[in-house]
Amino acid sequence: MNNLSKNYINGQWVDWNGDTIDVHEAGTGEVIAKVPASDREAMEQAIAAADAAFESWSESTLDQRIKVLEQLHAGLKERAGEIAETVCREVGMPIKLATGIQAGLPATVTKTYLKMLPDFPFTEQCGNSEVQYAPVGVVGCITPWNYPLHQVILKIVPAIAAGCTVVLKPAEIAPQSAYILAEILDGTDLPKGVFNLVCGEGQTVGDTLIKHPAVRMVSFTGSTRTGNLIAHAAADDFKRIALEMGGKSASVILPDADLAAAVKGTINNCLLNSGQTCTALTRMLVPADKHDEACELAAAAVAKMTPGNPLEETTRLGPLASAQQRDKVIDYIKLGIEEGHTLVAGGPEAPEGCDKGYFVKATVFGNVKPGSRLEQEEIFGPVLCVVPYQDEADAIRIANGTQYGLSGAVWSADAEKAKKVASKFRTGQVFVNGGDFNPMAPFGGFGHSGIGREFGKWGLEEFLEVRSLQL
Ligand code: ADP
Repeated sequence: MNNLSKNYINGQWVDWNGDTIDVHEAGTGEVIAKVPASDREAMEQAIAAADAAFESWSESTLDQRIKVLEQLHAGLKERAGEIAETVCREVGMPIKLATGIQAGLPATVTKTYLKMLPDFPFTEQCGNSEVQYAPVGVVGCITPWNYPLHQVILKIVPAIAAGCTVVLKPAEIAPQSAYILAEILDGTDLPKGVFNLVCGEGQTVGDTLIKHPAVRMVSFTGSTRTGNLIAHAAADDFKRIALEMGGKSASVILPDADLAAAVKGTINNCLLNSGQTCTALTRMLVPADKHDEACELAAAAVAKMTPGNPLEETTRLGPLASAQQRDKVIDYIKLGIEEGHTLVAGGPEAPEGCDKGYFVKATVFGNVKPGSRLEQEEIFGPVLCVVPYQDEADAIRIANGTQYGLSGAVWSADAEKAKKVASKFRTGQVFVNGGDFNPMAPFGGFGHSGIGREFGKWGLEEFLEVRSLQL
């Protein structure tokens, strides 16, 4: 990557000579890159470029859009190794997982849109009307650091496929894969101005992006706090918003479930990316009479998850992405102890042998009380709460008892029963007996977890306005 000191505006790499932001390696704490802390003017230039490119791109043919996405897909495949290592260093996800998820998923998602586009109904008949689905306009994309390229792809691919133009502001903690993406797009037939990248702080360039009148939609993934600011800003000129925010997802283990398999499935999900996953199953709800056994199984499972160098092929649990995130998670572990929950495994001390980097011990709390801060707030680290419940109604009430509604899981020996319980979740998705992740299925949240859906046709529809011609 030669362009880390620049922004990508109107098809050009534009020098930035002002302040920079340090990018740290999660496993060592060392500075590995510097990227622009751009100013509002740079962002305004990018928005102007996207605005100027919109008319022409909105009228581009499907073949043109498909060709660009095919070129993007080929580039993502070609640079997959570099993407995996970059994100592994920045975020701390172990390299084996980063190869499959951080580098693999962006290519998979691009492919799903390539498959869908030729048959997507951009017009349909309704009696004497032709209903047309038109691109919404210039889209501001603001993304977080935990799955940095995946979340960018999930926005810009359907936006470009819809005929929108885009300004991307990636997360400042893990921005490098967005530069790889811009380099790939620079080598495609995408006309200048359709995709623009400006790197910088949320409070400056992000703020300009969410308030600019030429931006007709903001697609955001990140904290509920920032999502709230974006919703307020969007209200002022009726911008469309798509928000994907926090979660505190429940894994409900019913009395007849295979307890060992359910605990293992829950822990693997909870600790993925060191818990830095918005859909992480961070609350494990177990029948009260199985609580102690579930805690023993959980403790045994996390004992195998000793944190290590994320660049090693055998590492299963890496560090957190930043010093700030590590400190926040440690504070939550201390809070859990203060609130009086039972510390079953882990704790606030740094793991042995990890004096450098942002490591935290995988931690399990038992007897966690519904309504406590530990049970209610998103921690975004490797911390599992085991919550005992009395009966099925109690389990559903606890599962739905937070402000969030992103994901969940149900485990039972009876598949129909599990489905019935899953259908009571006030969440955007539920994994039934460890069902596979589906990149064509809609993804998003109820309540404070979000507005709108990503992935598949639902992700494309977010970027389309509806026009009906009465004929
Ligand atoms: P996290 O706590 O996970 O870092 P944030 O919501 O702070 O989540 O960050 C997600 C993205 O939102 C980042 O790209 C960040 O720069 C951006 N962001 C943060 N604050 C603002 C803001 N006031 N306006 C616009 N974007 C912001």
